[in-house]
Order: sequence, then structure tokens, then C-alpha cells
Amino acid sequence: MKKHAIIPIFIPHRGCPHDCVFCNQRKITAHGASVSAEDIARTVDDYMSTLSAMKLETIELSFFGGSFTGLPLKEQSAFLAIARAYKEQGVIEKIHLSTRPDYISVPILDNLKSYGVDVIELGVQSFADPVLRASGRGHDAACIYESCALIKEYGFTLGLQLMIGLPGDTEEFDLFSARETAALKPQLARLYPTVVIRDTRLYEMMEAGLYVPLTEEEAVRRTAAMYRILTEAGINVIRVGLKSSDIMTDERNTAGTFHPAFRQLVEGLIAREDLCTQIDALLAGAGTKNATADDGDGRDERIVIALISNEKSRANLFGHRSENRRFFSRHYPQVTFRFLRDCQAGLKLADGKYLAIRM
Ligand code: SF4
Repeated sequence: MKKHAIIPIFIPHRGCPHDCVFCNQRKITAHGASVSAEDIARTVDDYMSTLSAMKLETIELSFFGGSFTGLPLKEQSAFLAIARAYKEQGVIEKIHLSTRPDYISVPILDNLKSYGVDVIELGVQSFADPVLRASGRGHDAACIYESCALIKEYGFTLGLQLMIGLPGDTEEFDLFSARETAALKPQLARLYPTVVIRDTRLYEMMEAGLYVPLTEEEAVRRTAAMYRILTEAGINVIRVGLKSSDIMTDERNTAGTFHPAFRQLVEGLIAREDLCTQIDALLAGAGTKNATADDGDGRDERIVIALISNEKSRANLFGHRSENRRFFSRHYPQVTFRFLRDCQAGLKLADGKYLAIRM
């Protein structure tokens, strides 16, 4: 059952005078309406008409989109006053917002604290200065470290967002960014492969041959390596890849750089790599001889390995569109694989003919 829900409040580009090369918000919001305090109240009430019937542990009101703390303090306070009122009434449990590292200061954090803000996410994108410069971010890495330290000092929950494959980026820079994030120990992180959206400077750079997007395979591989670094450091990676609603445009306008199931590609690759390590160890081990037998298909003397998953890990075992299944068959032609659910595994393994790997 769903335990956590988010009421999203989109704050357009208005809070942000910058022009990051990958961002299309300025163009979108130039034509869009701004958000008023009344809009926020209406959105919360609309959501609550559905959410209040659900048994949820936490409901968060989340300001996302532009850079919330780049808005004039008075405007921030007007929005936050509504959020705080809902929190005080027990309608929501948490107030969450996203912003830029260079829009964090003592007066800003004092104000956020006074309105009961819980979570601050920083759009860090990279810890490498060449990447920040080439992406038009308008701040350097030193600013990120300072902001993170200040946010933690105030006791807010910290979230960091990283992008993969920005202009000037390399695999080394991406892994460095993941390691720096791990060292800063935020509670939350998001990983976003760069999506090239029409009507952005990045799109123009690509058209002019000044920027080459990562291939999907490379983006998945790098993101998987970063995901490992973060999760091994105990960081909750709450998002991998953009949702189609995030890009605020038709998917056809993303130059083929958007994949709606990116998280599954990444988690499928991680599962595959882990399983390969275990399969290799099994095949190299002494027990292999005992598992060479008729596997029930009339094909004698094959090694049979049962890959056992629960309902939750099953999608990663198979991978997106069953690509892991095909990979295992290709990569281990001498092995017959059985894909079993936990509940089937006991019976099938009882005769001792299968080697087994449990996910
Ligand atoms: S800081 Fe955020 S909103 Fe502003 S231009 Fe960059 S990505 Fe867009």
C-alpha cells in the first residue's frame, strides 16, 4: 500500500534569472500563468479530496520547478504561510522545496525554518567546475559545499540532484560527483540523465555539433555506477530519470534522449551485473558438477541455474523488456536458466539438481 504522497506545486521559472543550457522553463513559463497563494490552497484541497481517503503515513507539500528561494522573500513567505497552515492543521506532514545552491543563505534558511520547511533539495547537477561552467549554471562547486553545510547545520533534510552527461562532462566527472555527494551524506538524491529538449541552448549546441548526447547505453551504465555509489553510502535515491510530466514538452521534442523507463534500465543493469558476478562464481565453484543433469527439457548434461526473485525484484531480474533474460542466454550458452519465484523455489530445488541464486 502506498505510504507516502506528494502534493506538487509547480513554481515556474520566475524565481530564477539563470539560463542553464538544458532548461526550457523560461520559454514555457514566459507564456504560462504565475502561481498565486490561492492556487496553492486550491491544489492542496483538490489533492486532499482523494488522499484523505487513503491510509498514508506522510503527505508532503512540495514546491518544485524553478528555484523557490530565488523568489523575493515576501513571496516565499506568502506561499510558505499557506503550507505551514496546512501542516499545523495536520493536513500535511512535511514541506519540501527545491532550489539552487547559490540561493541558500542565513536569512533564507532562517525564513524557511520559521515556516516549518522540512526538506531542501538542491539542483547541484555536477561537482565539476568545467561542467558547471559549460552548462551555464552560474555558480561553482565551492558554493555547493557551502550551501550543503549550512542546510545541514540548520537541521533540514537535504536532497541533492545530479545530472549525467552535461556539456563538458566525462565519466570521471560523473563518478566524482557521485562520490562527493556520498561524502556529503544527504538523505535523498535524484539522478537525471541529460535530456536534450527543443527550445533550449543545449538543443542548439547539439544541432551545431557542439554537444553530443550520451548514447542510452552509456547514460544507463554511468547512472548505474553512480546509483551504486549513492546507495552503498546509505543515500535514498528517490528518482532516477525524468518523468514525461517533468520535461514539460512532448517526448518527441527531446531528440531521442528521453526514456520513460530509465530507472528500470538502470536497476535492471545493476541486477544483471550482480547476478553475473554470482553466476561466474557458481560456474567456477566445485558444486557445478552436481548440477549438470537433464534439466527436464531432454537436454542432458547442461548446467541448470535457478534465479530466484520475489515479486519486488522480479522486474529487475528480467530487466526492461526481458533484456536480462536474453543477455543470460547469450552470455552463458552452457547454462539453462530457470526463473523462479520465491514460492516455487522450494519444490524445484528439492532434487538438488539446480544451482540457485536468490536475488
Ligand atoms: S536554475 Fe533551474 S530553473 Fe533556473 S535556468 Fe537553471 S534549471 Fe532552469
